[in-house]
Amino acid sequence: MELRKDPITRSWVITGERTPGGRNPQQVCPFCPESPQPPQVISSMASVSYGPWSARAVVHPLPLYHVEGDPGRRGLGLYDVMHSVGAHEVVVENPRHDRQLWNASEAEIEQFLLLCAQRVEDLKKDHRFKYVSIFKDFGSLSGQEFDHPTSQIVATTFVPRRVLYELRSAREHFAQKERCVFCDILTQEMQQRDRIVEIRGDYVACCPFASRAPYETWILPVTHNANFENTARSTPGALRDCAGLLRRMLNRIRSITDSFHLVFHTAPNTQHQSKVLNYWRTIQDDYHWHIEILPILQERQKSYSFKETYRSAVLPEEAALRLREAPTEETHTRS
Ligand SMILES: [Zn+2]
Ligand SMILES: [Zn+2]
Ligand SMILES: [Zn+2]
Repeated sequence: MELRKDPITRSWVITGERTPGGRNPQQVCPFCPESPQPPQVISSMASVSYGPWSARAVVHPLPLYHVEGDPGRRGLGLYDVMHSVGAHEVVVENPRHDRQLWNASEAEIEQFLLLCAQRVEDLKKDHRFKYVSIFKDFGSLSGQEFDHPTSQIVATTFVPRRVLYELRSAREHFAQKERCVFCDILTQEMQQRDRIVEIRGDYVACCPFASRAPYETWILPVTHNANFENTARSTPGALRDCAGLLRRMLNRIRSITDSFHLVFHTAPNTQHQSKVLNYWRTIQDDYHWHIEILPILQERQKSYSFKETYRSAVLPEEAALRLREAPTEETHTRS
């Protein structure tokens, strides 16, 4: 595996065949507690209901990134190349094979979120890693990898392009106005209410003004914080409403489609003092963590990243209206 940088867009691309880093994929679910050959466990949360643990992080059975070694950044003429050094973990959201983020209890989902925060914090101690991504691909159109309820965590030696764009815009907005752009968005959206789906405690779910995909939804904390992991450790129960809102939001979205991408956007590793980028200087004030949910309605939307311009057939105001009225508990009308 190798990482190559597109010199025009500055986007890193991972190329090459996957090499098994752990055990080979098995017939039986490797993530269920009764698996005879469980993957290597990195961290576990204590049980809150069923099973010996509530959520746990394990080594990805076929990792795209490997923890050992140096990125070995080098040039090939004008091009940049590096080894795929990083961490690639699977977060088992629930010990039960049938409890997803929309039908598990709020307490279970909260444990999953707390574990994610703990993993981000831990991985950021490794100064080689500039960014830690948490994401979930669910459904036949999403590139879902495992049947068991899972998310994935990837720590990389670069900041993904979309996050880099957000960081640059947030920094520029702050430089001009001395305010966080996400806080400004929240203030305006909470006044207008057109695109708000639900507010639960300190968390707001809304369809962004320029949604890239139909029914795109963001979940943001109203209390400003650049780092997801800092919110998690701020007060006990700080993520409980986030868990509840996420659960309800996924049920609403599942009444429209069963495929989606979900990604956390949080501040990069500011311990990594890059000499080239100076994005960390005002980052605590200018950036604001959030969760983005991108529902997938049809096959061709797989390739968001290939499109030159996004085109969404549904107005965000209409999307918010329909999502507000959608069921917040699991319904069994879809198969
Ligand atoms: Zn399972
Ligand atoms: Zn903010
Ligand atoms: Zn974002």
